[in-house]
Amino acid sequence: MFEIHFNKHLLQTFKMSTTEDQQKQQLKTYNGSCHCKAITYEAEMDLSQGTGKCNCSICFKSRNWIAFIKDVNQFKLLTGKEMLGNYQFGKKTCTHHFCKACGVRVYLYGNMGNFDFICLNVPTIDNLSQKEFSELTIKCSNGASDDFYNQPEFFSHL
Ligand SMILES: [Zn+2]
Repeated sequence: MFEIHFNKHLLQTFKMSTTEDQQKQQLKTYNGSCHCKAITYEAEMDLSQGTGKCNCSICFKSRNWIAFIKDVNQFKLLTGKEMLGNYQFGKKTCTHHFCKACGVRVYLYGNMGNFDFICLNVPTIDNLSQKEFSELTIKCSNGASDDFYNQPEFFSHL
């Protein structure tokens, strides 16, 4: 249940469920990596669409801060495929990928049934300044109560 709701939530939150919305995106190229740089990637994203944090079990414990990529072709793993750890739970619709050497969570790969998507872990992006990170819009979700569409009562610690 968790992952299915989570996925629907992502679509609604980031309002990327139609072709028209996708065409409005202003894609930029971002490069990112885990801490030890074993895993590197390139991603085309429009971060002005917003980013997300959540109080659900996996997001809370892993301090997840996500940027949603609806088209998996906009994400390219450049190095480190052999270093990717894979973690799944529940209905296993999402695979959470982390670096087996440094432990940093890099992205998750999810499946909605009719399409796949990726959620990048925002702090792994290398070509954003601290100022730019600080200016990203963050939407908080109450995943812990299976209420992904709404902000939780307490969220400043997420
Ligand atoms: Zn690493």
